Amino acid sequence: SLADRLGSVFEKLRGRGALTELDVRAAMREVRIALLEADVALPVVKDFVEQATERAIGAEVIRSVTPGQQVVKIVNDCLVELLGSEHEGLNIPATPPAVLMMVGLQGSGKTTSTAKLAKFLTERQGKKVLMASLDVARPAAQEQLRVLGEQTGVATLPIIAGQSPVTIAERARQSAKLQGFDVVLLDTAGRLSVDAALMAEMAQIANATQPHEILLVVDALTGQDAVSTATLFKAEVPLTGVILTRMDGDARGGAALSMRAITGKPIKFAGTGEKLDALEAFDPQRVAGRILGMGDIVGLVERAAANVEQADAERMAEKLSKGQFDLDDLRAQLKQMKAMGGLGALASMMPGVAQAKQAMASGAVDEKLLGRMEAVISSMTPKERSKPEIITAKRKIRIAKGSGTTVMEVNRVLKMQLEMATAMKKLRKMGGMKGMAAMLG
Ligand code: GDP
Ligand code: MG
Repeated sequence: SLADRLGSVFEKLRGRGALTELDVRAAMREVRIALLEADVALPVVKDFVEQATERAIGAEVIRSVTPGQQVVKIVNDCLVELLGSEHEGLNIPATPPAVLMMVGLQGSGKTTSTAKLAKFLTERQGKKVLMASLDVARPAAQEQLRVLGEQTGVATLPIIAGQSPVTIAERARQSAKLQGFDVVLLDTAGRLSVDAALMAEMAQIANATQPHEILLVVDALTGQDAVSTATLFKAEVPLTGVILTRMDGDARGGAALSMRAITGKPIKFAGTGEKLDALEAFDPQRVAGRILGMGDIVGLVERAAANVEQADAERMAEKLSKGQFDLDDLRAQLKQMKAMGGLGALASMMPGVAQAKQAMASGAVDEKLLGRMEAVISSMTPKERSKPEIITAKRKIRIAKGSGTTVMEVNRVLKMQLEMATAMKKLRKMGGMKGMAAMLG
């Protein structure tokens, strides 16, 4: 793994103050190999390594970590930064209908993703969705979407034979307006290899309908072809985001980095199976882990994160010494737990804090939940986060709506925060702060 590779590169370098250019370049050779093994496109690897190198040279090595760990942390930070540190949602304007257009090569998963997204918007966000197939090249294509509409209970635009894609798109938007739909999803045609006439047609549709989102649907197994695909589509239409499909396969996540780097647009969703509920909000942290360590990164980040940056540690220690633990603190913990892959992280951050561990365990936290809990906290105002007691029933409804969750889930988060806060207060009474502060420092 990359961890072992870097470990041997840096074995002899223990105890140095700052990373030298020679050390960094040696380490980056290993990073480069890891990225290529993860199927990141070559030009993207080059750019990435250059940037990470620049940042790493001269960086202070944090007391108590090895230079190798420090480089891994820098590389991981660069990866997460490039992939986008937060999940980005869809741009749905206040005045309906929102027009969302799906583009991509044939077989990339456009039609499936259209139905998945429609189901997601309907069930999770309470939107009224209309789907329309603009794929007139294949007779079965419009029928395929109609069937998916039936399966998901989502409306599809009635099929009228002989219409051009632009006409169908305009008819879809018009129907949506008249019938009060919130969102129109336009599923476009794609060929096996990119074809000039089809690209022109796609640009024409985009021009005519002025979509709020143009989502490039890409197979995560694309690998080195990612560059040419993304470049071609980007040149033709103003992309706003990417949907990465087949993340359930043996994809090593490299396409995510390539797509993000070349399009400059966020990856918004990941397809994780053939079933229509196999769509997830894209999680940059998890994919960064998959690319770098293929699993091993979890341990690496854990070690690096155990050395929480000084300022953070001091802020945390100060709060804890007052027995405080608000929703901002909870969010920070959730983020860390997610990056480290579960409950073990918090436990290792705070050994001996039995009450805290208990509180987390009683919340029955699993990995998927962490993301949803984070979304709940992110939908609160800063004031609500620091003063949870002001969150009334009415506010809970707003928070649930904003995060695409339920009031029950909002309550769960509030309960966990309360339990943690109580645990912190108890801990303080028991005089356990010294050990804790030492841990965090
Ligand atoms: P389109 O030509 O771009 O419209 O592609 P389709 O939506 O018709 O999908 C092509 C094939 O890929 C179908 O068999 C889908 O079931 C499959 N597919 C789409 N998305 C995913 C995914 O996320 N995971 C897996 N395993 N299969 C997918
Ligand atoms: Mg299709």
